[in-house]
Amino acid sequence: MTSLSDRLSSAMPKLRGRLSAAQSLAESLWFRVGGKAEALFAPADEDDLAYFLSRLPDGIPYTVVGLGSNLLVRDGGLPGVTIRLGRPFATIAPGRDGALWAGAAAADKRVALEAMEAGIGGFAFFAGVPGAIGGALAMNAGANGTETSDRVVEVFGFDRAGDAVTLSNAEMGYSYRRSSAPEGVIFTGALMQGEPRDRDAVKAEIDAVVAHREASQPTKSRTGGSTFKNPPGQSAWKLIDEAGCRGLRIGGAQVSELHTNFLLNVGGATAADIEALGEEVRRRVKETSGVELEWEIKRIGVAA
Ligand SMILES: Cc1cc2nc3c(=O)[nH]c(=O)nc-3n(C[C@H](O)[C@H](O)[C@H](O)COP(=O)(O)OP(=O)(O)OC[C@H]3O[C@@H](n4cnc5c(N)ncnc54)[C@H](O)[C@@H]3O)c2cc1C
Repeated sequence: MTSLSDRLSSAMPKLRGRLSAAQSLAESLWFRVGGKAEALFAPADEDDLAYFLSRLPDGIPYTVVGLGSNLLVRDGGLPGVTIRLGRPFATIAPGRDGALWAGAAAADKRVALEAMEAGIGGFAFFAGVPGAIGGALAMNAGANGTETSDRVVEVFGFDRAGDAVTLSNAEMGYSYRRSSAPEGVIFTGALMQGEPRDRDAVKAEIDAVVAHREASQPTKSRTGGSTFKNPPGQSAWKLIDEAGCRGLRIGGAQVSELHTNFLLNVGGATAADIEALGEEVRRRVKETSGVELEWEIKRIGVAA
């Protein structure tokens, strides 16, 4: 049977990016688990992405993945096309008076460092978020009292039809770890605003952010970051701890001993182990505190 990528390649003769079939994703996701992408597309540039979307037949789903630091891809993989923006989308361009452009594929940490070198404050929080800007825009990533939404002026991207869209901060519909931007928009970059600041002062902030993280989070483990959103006025990690889940294990998945809102792949875990562990934590927390934890990690794809 002809693969989806072969069918799409024939329907898109002018495509310049890389389109490949049945690509494993696990090695590029933080949890190191999950099935294959039915087709994987890395656009050559914005025009290529627009062309691809404008020719993509209705009914074929697509999913964008960033650096996979907030994703659990199920073991049966991702149907349709998985789109990953690479180097052509990773430009960072500091501007005047604290303005900064960042492409969706630019790593958050690089944005923090380049802003520092340009004497721009307000982006130090990105030094501790191990994703890329596209994921930060989608998740309203935040740390140390600052969220992406505090910095965003305008977001640029393409919709399912391949038309360019520009969304203001208000149109991104930001709330805690969430954006309600129109479904299907692929962000390609954002104009953000910080403030002119002394380089050494920014460096001290970044050092503090990194040191705090290394002491309090399993930053070198196979994890998806905070598993559940903090319920209003409460800490998810505390509720999980009080429910007796510290160190709880299912298969190769374990609740971190260091930070109970982190789930770990401690070796040989499947995505099903990790999801089952998360659901068990939710069940126990509901039983002990009455609180229903909401997943922060995006669980996508189909079960094996
Ligand atoms: C050790 C660790 C620590 C973490 N600490 C923090 C923290 O302090 N604060 C915090 O907020 N998060 C934290 N996270 C979670 C994660 O890093 C953030 O949510 C990050 O913003 C996700 O970016 P990503 O590139 O990895 O996105 P992915 O995980 O690849 O994707 C996340 C979501 O964004 C969507 N997305 C990605 N790129 C695009 C795009 N170009 N256009 C449209 N949608 C897109 C995806 O479809 C998916 O729904 C942590 C994770 C880890 C592993």
